[in-house]
Amino acid sequence: MAVTTSDSEMTGMENGPGPDAVFAAKLAEGVFEIQKCNGCGAHVFHPRVICPTCGSADLGWVAPTGQGTVYARTIVRRKPERGGDYNVVLVDLQEGVRMMSRVDGIAHDEIAAGMKVSASIGEGPDGEPAVVFQPEGDAR
Ligand SMILES: [Zn+2]
Repeated sequence: MAVTTSDSEMTGMENGPGPDAVFAAKLAEGVFEIQKCNGCGAHVFHPRVICPTCGSADLGWVAPTGQGTVYARTIVRRKPERGGDYNVVLVDLQEGVRMMSRVDGIAHDEIAAGMKVSASIGEGPDGEPAVVFQPEGDAR
């Protein structure tokens, strides 16, 4: 009896929490992991059910090095009584995936494209666990 690949993929998708929820649950436990495709070896972020490179549904979780390079930075201006300015960065991880995050421990306007940063788990805008970055070498 033939069992098609798409049937087993559909079954897999319906089991357990989605990849976004898995990512968030790992962060809540202090674990920063991204997906890696067991089909083509590509790293995958944001969390997905299907590899965007090869279409495989066989995605595992691996710990990235946490080392990355700032690709772009934006300063969001906000009144002090509303929390003050903050930065939004796009960071290219060594694994070849791009994350939206922020860089802590440095003045917003000193963050520049090409800057080396390293990841840690901090707090997102609503106090939730989130991946944030520090300038590399900063022993925070
Ligand atoms: Zn793949």
